[in-house]
Amino acid sequence: MKHAPSSYLESLVVGAWLTASAMLGRVTTRKRAILLVLAFATAAVVITAAFIVVPMLLPPGPRPLFQLPVACGETWQLSTYPGHDDFDVDFYPTEGEGWGRPVLASFDGTVSEAGVNGSVGGRTPDNPNGPKGRGGGYLVKIDHGGKWQTQYLHLLEPPLVTEGQKVVQGQQIGRLGSTGNSGFPHLHYEQRRGWEKMETYFDGQPSGITTDDREYTLKLKSNNCPAGARK
Ligand SMILES: [Zn+2]
Repeated sequence: MKHAPSSYLESLVVGAWLTASAMLGRVTTRKRAILLVLAFATAAVVITAAFIVVPMLLPPGPRPLFQLPVACGETWQLSTYPGHDDFDVDFYPTEGEGWGRPVLASFDGTVSEAGVNGSVGGRTPDNPNGPKGRGGGYLVKIDHGGKWQTQYLHLLEPPLVTEGQKVVQGQQIGRLGSTGNSGFPHLHYEQRRGWEKMETYFDGQPSGITTDDREYTLKLKSNNCPAGARK
């Protein structure tokens, strides 16, 4: 885009004003009143657009130093499969049961969504083959500022955080489960920048999960540790 968004909007406002002024010069008082109302309505629309559209056009901030959304020191398997979706990552523990394991915020932020996507279904530790739900099930989305966002899906229970709540890196936001469209207890995880899904980075390193062309897995150790314990 060549023009700065603010100067573009400015010229829109000035243009609308000049048009209105020119028309006002040769009309009756009643029409003048109507045109004034229209001019103010136009200005209101333009100003609203400026507050919604301009932030969308601003460049994103630098990538936050995300950490794995699982407990400090644990090794987890990260995987994807054909038809998953590019960049999406499924987390499975390499040791022990997945059910109920803490799901942690990857970075400081503000909870932008905490609830249900689709339907929860009936898969629980007591009934792991219960009816499948739809979509993400219980989920949390965190806004990290600079247009960066992380998403955590298929949680076992309603999230431990609420919309608008501030969270810090490593804070538990839920427990791992199999709600929504999930076959096995796992955490579906995404990092996004604006409208785009991005390759997930952990501790400053790309995960290598970029496409869903093939099955792919790797193992990583979580450095989502209290500041003093971080390596
Ligand atoms: Zn998934």
